[in-house]
Amino acid sequence: MYFDWTYIFVIIGVIITGIASAGVSSTFNKYAKFRSTTGMTGAEAAQKILYSQGIMDVRVEHVRGKLTDHYDPRTKTVNLSDATYGSDSVAAIGVAAHECGHVIQHHTNYVPLNLRSALVPVANIGSKAGIPILLIGMFLSYNQFLINFGIVLFSFGVLFQIVTLPVEFDASARALKLVGTLGILDDRERKDMGKVLRAAAMTYVASAFAAILSLLRLVLIFGGGRRRN
Ligand SMILES: [Zn+2]
Repeated sequence: MYFDWTYIFVIIGVIITGIASAGVSSTFNKYAKFRSTTGMTGAEAAQKILYSQGIMDVRVEHVRGKLTDHYDPRTKTVNLSDATYGSDSVAAIGVAAHECGHVIQHHTNYVPLNLRSALVPVANIGSKAGIPILLIGMFLSYNQFLINFGIVLFSFGVLFQIVTLPVEFDASARALKLVGTLGILDDRERKDMGKVLRAAAMTYVASAFAAILSLLRLVLIFGGGRRRN
């Protein structure tokens, strides 16, 4: 055995995703204590944003859990978590408005969102089967075809994470604009909301970066047609 120095990539990935998720938790918790001057809840803000865009067929619903907020285009529901749905905090409104940003992307056929949706099936297969196929290739006396195939599959999962970035940034940009124009938050509150959304965006950046590092590691270890005989 030799020391696998590329393992450092895995450690870096774990550290940056850990820092990002701690960052979003602490930022959310901080601004969850800042009540908005309008007193509007996350659910009310979401409803107002959707109506303002003429979107009448998407329901705003309550979902259990912490930071489980999401928009589900199949059921046409904006699902807001315990800390968001009934809370009138700046953080809650920020998260609710962000999810509405995704609804608007869906309704306006925002290209990166469509690309991301198209990648879902292959990304799912890639992140589940990529490594196992690579390992099978390893055990079959370093079958380079299977190893490369595993890496290519895995890279679709990485690509998905990269395409997620513009989708997330855009949803937050739409949210920040709308809470201002609709008078849901004032300028100072919008600044704070921006901090919450930026912290949330950093978790996606960190995940994407960690995924790129994992891919790079696989390429360094197995790529380049390593010969065993
Ligand atoms: Zn999002």
